[in-house]
Amino acid sequence: MADQHNHEHDHEHEEPQVTEVIGEVPDLSKAEARPITVVGNPVLHRECKDVTAFDAELSALIDDMFASMYAAEGVGLAANQIGVDLKVFVYDCPDDEGVRHIGHVVNPVLEEWPADRKRVLDDGQEGCLSVPTAYAELPRPGYAAVRGQDKDGNPVRVDGTGFFARCLQHETDHLYGFLYIDKLSKRDRKDALKQMAEGTPRYATVPNS
Ligand SMILES: [Zn+2]
Repeated sequence: MADQHNHEHDHEHEEPQVTEVIGEVPDLSKAEARPITVVGNPVLHRECKDVTAFDAELSALIDDMFASMYAAEGVGLAANQIGVDLKVFVYDCPDDEGVRHIGHVVNPVLEEWPADRKRVLDDGQEGCLSVPTAYAELPRPGYAAVRGQDKDGNPVRVDGTGFFARCLQHETDHLYGFLYIDKLSKRDRKDALKQMAEGTPRYATVPNS
């Protein structure tokens, strides 16, 4: 997911002071940033494969995903955004309460919430590294929880509020073949694609053939 605070229309948003960090940035000394796939690339529009091998290769992929996310100044990245057909995402994302969340989830599944909790909506802006330079308003539940595994195959549950809840939903959606623009009205989707066509990403992308 793209950082909301890079957005020129978002000057009024005050970034909360980070008072707590949950998780840590892995050692990226051997990691390599890879170019980002963009809307239209088939790998973004189908469900990714489940991860079944919890090995050094997976660990190296996660490190490369962190490096790619930081190079693109994102707050979340799914494996298919660097062209890898596997269910894993990484994040380094603030919530609305001053907590910076850093980590990864393998084979994530969003928890379903009772309808009354879904009514607490966060109506902020959303952007995506795979839809470069575009942003749109998209209401999302203000709380989300994801269950999955860590890189060693241990069960994990990650939850959060506000902007981080948005990130967890956005990244899980990626791994099932959905972009945030797929949740917009036809008009807003068209507008987002127009923003993308008119903008120039500040990071390397994979050209669509
Ligand atoms: Zn995205």
